[in-house]
Amino acid sequence: TGLKDCVPGLDVGDALGAIGKPTLLPTEDADRQAVATEEEITARQELLDVLSGQCMLVPFDENGNPASGPWSLRYSGHQFGSWAGQLGDGRAISILATPHPNDPELLTEIQLKGAGRTPYSRNADGLAVTRSSIREFLAAEAMHALGIPTSRSLTLISLPGIEVWRERIEAACIATRMAPSFLRVGSFEALNPPSNVFFFGGHQQPSHWEGLRVLGEWVGRRVLRLEHVEWEGETRTAWGKKLVLEVAKRNAKMVAGWQVYGFMHGVINTDNVSILGLTIDYGPYAFMDVFDSWHVCNHSDEEGRYSYKRQPEMVFFAMQALLRSVAPIIGAEEEFGGRAISEGWADVSEPKLEEWSKAGQEGMRSEVKQLWDDTYDEEYARLFRRRLGLRKSLGSDEANIFKQYLDLLEEHSLDFHSTFRKLSAFRPGYFQGNDGMLDAFISRLLQSTPRPEKQDKMKASTGFKAWLEKYSNRISEEREEWGNNPQEEIDALREKLMNEVNPRFVLRQWVLEEVIAKVERDTVSGRRVLSKVLEMATNPFESWGAEGVGPEVCVTGEVEEERRY
Ligand code: AMP
Ligand code: MG
Ligand code: MG
Repeated sequence: TGLKDCVPGLDVGDALGAIGKPTLLPTEDADRQAVATEEEITARQELLDVLSGQCMLVPFDENGNPASGPWSLRYSGHQFGSWAGQLGDGRAISILATPHPNDPELLTEIQLKGAGRTPYSRNADGLAVTRSSIREFLAAEAMHALGIPTSRSLTLISLPGIEVWRERIEAACIATRMAPSFLRVGSFEALNPPSNVFFFGGHQQPSHWEGLRVLGEWVGRRVLRLEHVEWEGETRTAWGKKLVLEVAKRNAKMVAGWQVYGFMHGVINTDNVSILGLTIDYGPYAFMDVFDSWHVCNHSDEEGRYSYKRQPEMVFFAMQALLRSVAPIIGAEEEFGGRAISEGWADVSEPKLEEWSKAGQEGMRSEVKQLWDDTYDEEYARLFRRRLGLRKSLGSDEANIFKQYLDLLEEHSLDFHSTFRKLSAFRPGYFQGNDGMLDAFISRLLQSTPRPEKQDKMKASTGFKAWLEKYSNRISEEREEWGNNPQEEIDALREKLMNEVNPRFVLRQWVLEEVIAKVERDTVSGRRVLSKVLEMATNPFESWGAEGVGPEVCVTGEVEEERRY
């Protein structure tokens, strides 16, 4: 809540030629006039100044003293599997952590990305360019609309007066984002870097045991809000294990969402993996088009480390890095009979810390893995089943239904999302009636390809017929879960529910390219396209345009044949 409500009809766009979120932009002239009071104009300007990093927001405590100022957090990380030392955060500045009105313990942190240098910028400029800010801004909202845990976007403000030197000169643009916290695995690694690792470049820092305890305790209490852990006085109980398990559980759910919705992050370095299990730091990400399980969206990822297929493994790699960082605390807590460690614990000898560290890791490795696998499998199956309109949970689904479906998409070059969407119109009755209905349905599915000439139609039809028969039987087996209603009623309801979870609009690469090009060419008219795409991305399940016409019509105003699938 907050900013938007404080300043009704706020127009971030006027003052700096900014591009903004429609909720912040009055689009009608009537709205514009309605916000014309002097007070409101001042408030709007102040807000704009704050969100564009021109002006500092300093909250006061009850005694009238400044309570906090803006901050950046140092973190380290493993990049592409190798320890890279201290590397962030050189271009994110948090300006406020504001409590929820109904739950003062629940915080929302507001962070400017690209507002200039921080103490951790090293030789870089701390700025972000229009292209990358638009990508982050739209992606976070698109992911949220798909139900995948993510940071959120608040505003996008272009600073046309500031030149950014990349391969060419580009315009600066600040994306303001929100999350309960932007802490990452790399934040913990920074306080207990792996020792004896050969590493090249970056900055190595010594371990800071007390810092690790303070951070972990704060995260457990204020960010993860771990249950059954008392924090005050003598009764503090161990939290190290619980913290690692909770982070693993959340991240397993998140990456299951990525897999089921064909989202590829592109840079799953440990510094980009959130402690809250939120998708953060959108860079070279992509949503799946034609299904390719080995797709790599990051051009600099030559070995395919962050390919679609390896994403769960790579997020789990970050969980192991977290466990290693927190291990000395876990080991100590075990030794003290499940009591939380407190101040002064770090004065113990290095060999003792080593011992705790080893014990903490060994004791937990398999527990974390087990929880990870169970959580991931369950969430993956739950989401996949929902996309297929299935209610009953069967252990055999992964091998019999999901995997075979994905194999067919891959083998016959079918578009991931439109195929899912089309499946909602399937009727098990096609297998009882005449063949015509089934054949027509299959041929509609097979049209979801940009490369029809490459398709072996016979083979694809045979493959889908076999799969659809299983799917059809699978649907018929769960009549009870649908209240034993007549099959036609079940089918209609299933179709409706499937259309609520299978997006009609997907924030594809070419859509992003087009929006970025339009905004770069002209901020004012580009803003209209940006708003439209934001609206579509935040309502991805709507029809967007006439039946049989792709959502791209709404973006470009023109239909291009190869984009109609
Ligand atoms: P990324 O690879 O985008 O996750 O970035 C990793 C870290 O590199 C960030 O946390 C920043 O500290 C740093 N960084 C990236 N770009 C810039 C920049 N333009 N200015 C300062 N620091 C940057
Ligand atoms: Mg990052
Ligand atoms: Mg980045």
